Amino acid sequence: MFDDLRIGVVAGERVADVTGALPELLASWPEQRMNWVIRNWAELQAQLGDLDAFPSIALDAVRLRAVNPAPPQLFAIPANFHEHIGELADRAITPKGKSGADARFFLKAAGSVSGPSDGILLPNGSLRRFDHECELGVVIGVGGANIRQEDALDHVFGYTCLIDMTMRIEKGKFEEDRSLRKSFQTFTPVGPALVTADEVPDVTALRSRLFVNDDLRQSAHLADMIVSVPEAIELISSVVALQPGDIIASGTPKGVGPVGIGDCVRIEIDTIGAMTLAVSEAPPSPRPF
Ligand code: MN
Repeated sequence: MFDDLRIGVVAGERVADVTGALPELLASWPEQRMNWVIRNWAELQAQLGDLDAFPSIALDAVRLRAVNPAPPQLFAIPANFHEHIGELADRAITPKGKSGADARFFLKAAGSVSGPSDGILLPNGSLRRFDHECELGVVIGVGGANIRQEDALDHVFGYTCLIDMTMRIEKGKFEEDRSLRKSFQTFTPVGPALVTADEVPDVTALRSRLFVNDDLRQSAHLADMIVSVPEAIELISSVVALQPGDIIASGTPKGVGPVGIGDCVRIEIDTIGAMTLAVSEAPPSPRPF
């Protein structure tokens, strides 16, 4: 998605603006355009056969936005890489020795989703610790309940880079619910684009990396996830039906650490792409953290 929430298809260094192929009524609710695209992908894809029929813009001339600015639901898997478990010591809330396989999943507010050009905003004046978590974003295509692992990849629309920003607890002092600490606005950047699943034959073959100011902080093989993408889809859909456009955050590998105002955070995943986000301070709020 780009500029004022238009839909584009990236082809090399150009973007074909295909917004004109969507129903006109979505102009009054552009946040829902990507949910419509995902839900109607089979028919829409046929209309996109000749991209030359659509206006073309240079990729570096557009403002990239969240790949889906209004996912119906935003799920996340905790403690999903063995080497990450334990590194948070007394800032961890997943019990010692437990992983995503035990803790299953949690929710972030969908409103925390932001795009590559939005940056990361830390709560105004806060002295708390805010950490980056380098994750794969899985975007659901066909929804459903009780999806079995062996069928789960048929329900994936595509993949994107996702940063799960987190305000850490301080034991005995600040112990807010996890959903609050991970739901500040801009705490779920997704981008730079949504890569459809047909372009990612095997997500476990990919590597992810996260840099803070050019220092490599996280580097992982997605094959090392404890709860795989198909298993995550099975366990979430066993509780609540998945919907087209939902996003699942994969869980972070080791190397999480603090970011501060003025830092630049860069996430990259093979095949999926890369995005760099500037960290700055949010406007003052009536409830400081
Ligand atoms: Mn996470």
